Amino acid sequence: MQERINELGPVSEAIVTDSVRISRVDLAEVRRIRMRVEDPSFRVGVGQSVGVVVPGPHPFGNRYHMRRYSIAGESVDSRGDTEIELLVRRCFDIDEISGESYPGIASNYLCDAGPGQAITLTGPYRSPFRMPRNETANILMIGTGTGVAPFRSFIQEIYRQRGGWSGQVRLYYGARSGMDLLYRNDEEDDLALYYDEPSFQAFRGVISKPLASEADTLAAATESHAASIWKLIQSPDTYVYLAGLGKIAERFDEIMRFAAGSDELWVMTRDRLKVAGRWSELIYS
Ligand SMILES: Cc1cc2nc3c(=O)[nH]c(=O)nc-3n(C[C@H](O)[C@H](O)[C@H](O)COP(=O)(O)OP(=O)(O)OC[C@H]3O[C@@H](n4cnc5c(N)ncnc54)[C@H](O)[C@@H]3O)c2cc1C
Repeated sequence: MQERINELGPVSEAIVTDSVRISRVDLAEVRRIRMRVEDPSFRVGVGQSVGVVVPGPHPFGNRYHMRRYSIAGESVDSRGDTEIELLVRRCFDIDEISGESYPGIASNYLCDAGPGQAITLTGPYRSPFRMPRNETANILMIGTGTGVAPFRSFIQEIYRQRGGWSGQVRLYYGARSGMDLLYRNDEEDDLALYYDEPSFQAFRGVISKPLASEADTLAAATESHAASIWKLIQSPDTYVYLAGLGKIAERFDEIMRFAAGSDELWVMTRDRLKVAGRWSELIYS
């Protein structure tokens, strides 16, 4: 049962069922973590996120440490329990001067959790991404790293629940090479199911350098396709979705400014999309 504790709102308990590293060992660790919520009243929708509450004590006396994670996949079993899938990047910063390491609290808590561990969840929270009503609309998804998580469930909705989409659906996805398991055409990868859909095309850009930023991976995925992205963006039926970490919006602006041929034209086009509700971002630090 969901209960309410203080400022966190409704919370649910989930049990970790599976956790696998999906990135190469020499690159940042990303894990696919599955958990079951034994609560028939808990339902998550496409592209939503949940809050993960890490029990204290915490630095600076915080009672709770809560961070949001996008739902990368969800299913309901015959008992009505929901299984959710998160893609979590283990965060830590190293102080360049002292060499001291500062592990991110929630991401390390999740990445260290093994099967059977109970996790407290808040939410689910609505996605900033809204599916266009019109199935002839074009959908342009640009993502990096774990930012592909909301797109996976988005694509599931387009093809599984809506039963087809006649507009163009394009995914441009930047990754460090270890991340390609998120995406690769293997039996675990649900995106592979959509390769046969005539309207779906996915493009991946990979950078193997460990120090590459998310913005670099975004450039790898989009730079060589900039002309076709720019063409699609100018269609009055195109909706743009941007998701990932760090300075990806700034880098995408740079690439599109070049493709548009002028800063003014790009900014005007992008702002028109924003005003029309055809531009959405989910960018986290
Ligand atoms: C809607 C939404 C969806 C998201 N979806 C995902 C997702 O699907 N997958 C995903 O991996 N992330 C996702 N995120 C990001 C996620 O919520 C967290 O921000 C991320 O995991 C870091 O949280 P943390 O608790 O591990 O780090 P925190 O403890 O909050 O620390 C933040 C950063 O600061 C560093 N740091 C901490 N203390 C210090 C210090 N004293 N000095 C210097 N540096 C320090 C840490 O190493 C870390 O890199 C999402 C965010 C949002 C808003």
